[in-house]
Amino acid sequence: MNKLIVAIDGPSGAGKSTLSKLLAKHLDYLNIDTGAMYRSVAWAARQQGVDPDDEEALAALCSQLEIEFIRMADGERVMVNGHDVSSAIRTPEISLLTARVSACPAVRAAMVEQQRRLGRAGGVVLEGRDIGSVVFPHAEVKFYLSATAAARGRRRFEELRQKGAQVDLEQTIREVEARDAADMQRTHAPLVQTADAIAIDSTKMTIDEVLEQMLRTIRQKEVNN
Ligand code: C5P
Repeated sequence: MNKLIVAIDGPSGAGKSTLSKLLAKHLDYLNIDTGAMYRSVAWAARQQGVDPDDEEALAALCSQLEIEFIRMADGERVMVNGHDVSSAIRTPEISLLTARVSACPAVRAAMVEQQRRLGRAGGVVLEGRDIGSVVFPHAEVKFYLSATAAARGRRRFEELRQKGAQVDLEQTIREVEARDAADMQRTHAPLVQTADAIAIDSTKMTIDEVLEQMLRTIRQKEVNN
């Protein structure tokens, strides 16, 4: 069976993280959450007092960062230079900072290089915004996973509420829309749907239905490639 490169791109809240983890488990592939890598850069920048608009300082920071994904029995951990940052990179403050540092070309160049190194042997699921367009334009399978902003906002709202946060549904939807706009309108590697990507709208689908559709496509390709 051929081990493929599977790219999943799309806006936040469409289900990319959940699905890439499930796919990696079913296929025994490595799961690479590229958003977590950009979040790790933001975390390290804040930790070391690096100005998020100083490209040179960010480039120097990236050259010293070792980002690792470790699979544990109870889930996956993100490690930065030996520190477990799995929870620390998911705060609203880091989300905002990530949007700034991920627009920096030097940061993108450093992360893309690492992603290519991790993925080039195949047997990987990479999820992000620019995987099928920039990181692996020749990936054997490309998905563009989306859902309406209202559906994505509602999922995010439920997620935050379950964690005990005080949130407002309308405001959460507005935040989702604002992040979409920033990711789609930036100059370097904006979020785009490539012509060869299989588009899946998860608005009215369950996770299992999307997973089934993705697995069917990948298994066909594994046999035919
Ligand atoms: O996927 P996640 O929401 O964790 O990504 C956080 C942020 O990292 C995104 O809003 C985007 O600005 C950035 N990102 C990116 N390119 C990727 C993945 C994420 O610019 N491939």
